[in-house]
Amino acid sequence: MVGQRTLDPYVEVRILCPQHEETQPGLRLFVCSGGIIAADVSQPLFFEGERTCMKLHEYQSKQIFARYNIPIPRGRVAATADEAKQIAKELGSRVVIKAQVLVGGRGKAGGIRLARNPDEAAEMAAQILTMELKGLPVRKVLVDEAANIETEIYLGITNDRQARKPVLMASAAGGVDIEEVARTTPEKIVKVHIDPLLGLREYQTRDVAAGIDLPREHWRTFAQIALGLWRAYVDCDATLAEINPLVITAENQLLAVDGKMLIDDNALFRQPSLAEMRDLDAEAPAEIEARRYGLSFIKLDGDIGCMVNGAGLAMTTMDIIKLFGGAPANFLDIGGGAGAEKVAAALRIILSDPNVKAVLFNIFGGITRGDEVARGIVAALNEVKSEVPMVIRLVGTHAEEGRRILADAHMITAETLVEAAQKAVAAARGGVA
Ligand code: GDP
Ligand code: MN
Repeated sequence: MVGQRTLDPYVEVRILCPQHEETQPGLRLFVCSGGIIAADVSQPLFFEGERTCMKLHEYQSKQIFARYNIPIPRGRVAATADEAKQIAKELGSRVVIKAQVLVGGRGKAGGIRLARNPDEAAEMAAQILTMELKGLPVRKVLVDEAANIETEIYLGITNDRQARKPVLMASAAGGVDIEEVARTTPEKIVKVHIDPLLGLREYQTRDVAAGIDLPREHWRTFAQIALGLWRAYVDCDATLAEINPLVITAENQLLAVDGKMLIDDNALFRQPSLAEMRDLDAEAPAEIEARRYGLSFIKLDGDIGCMVNGAGLAMTTMDIIKLFGGAPANFLDIGGGAGAEKVAAALRIILSDPNVKAVLFNIFGGITRGDEVARGIVAALNEVKSEVPMVIRLVGTHAEEGRRILADAHMITAETLVEAAQKAVAAARGGVA
């Protein structure tokens, strides 16, 4: 089983409902490189791309870019106004003070300011360091030598899921309004697909340069930057590498003024130095907790918490809940052989969602013994006290003994999944199960 952040919906199929001729539109299956996972279509979990990835800060992205010969402004990060002042002094020029938070549109939100001297730099850094941008606190600012910007270009690489290839995108209309450009005048964005085996070819960078009317004198540097961006994208297992804006300065130089990278979570095991860069401020506490315990967890919109061992069983559980008119609050696979500690962590995570009105445990005892799971659940319930009704369906190895333990602990037990789902839906509606 793979986690939420590893998805690549190459194939999408609808689940056939056992009691209906037609397909069940509530759920979709996503088949990805490492496994299968379900998603509630009412929530576009996987189409934003960002939710399946770890975001890097601008300064981190730009440090990576620099290693690939992409020109970036001189500068460093600061955590205090004094540090910002010191950096501005060292740079000896006008500087930009830039909030390092994992949100877009910092400029428009007031998180980017130009300072003419070190005192101004200190003042602005002090201001920005007390700000919250879109709910996230600013803990660091990047102090960069200010660029004299003549032209702002957009340059980015991401995966084109439809084409099943990476795509290089560029636009002469770069800068803070690129989303608007993409929406209203998409023809202003030039794209070339990259063959993953051949990699980005230099002639392709010239096609793009021509496509955005980049003056010819910049083509060589533009190629170097685009090829560097491609190598960074590949080497870092990125799902997005973006420079917006890539500017032409008054001195006629190309310079990457902003940088953004998203790293595929599924690759972090082989990217330890990138994994260390994770900024927990930007993540939901439930997801951090789930990752810590090795749980595959996806939050959904419904009110029935699900705790299941096995991904396929978890999908079936969600599907059956839908079938009986309920809505799952989450996808959660506790994995095989989960002990009390893991069960307790999973329960804490499920119950941390205020929408949850009932919890459905669906456990199949294979190698995992039912009585052990039951003891784990009871231990977890002793630790995580809750008034939320809990329905348990337990089958397989040592299931009877397990059910006895659970019934003694005053939990609602069920023998079949259908019965369990009906009871959970009733319990969530406040009815008697
Ligand atoms: P974003 O708003 O989060 O995308 O942050 P950016 O780093 O892209 O900055 C937003 C805008 O601020 C850019 O599009 C530029 O117009 C402006 N800006 C950023 N850095 C500089 C700089 O060094 N000099 C000047 N003059 N403008 C800058
Ligand atoms: Mn930007």
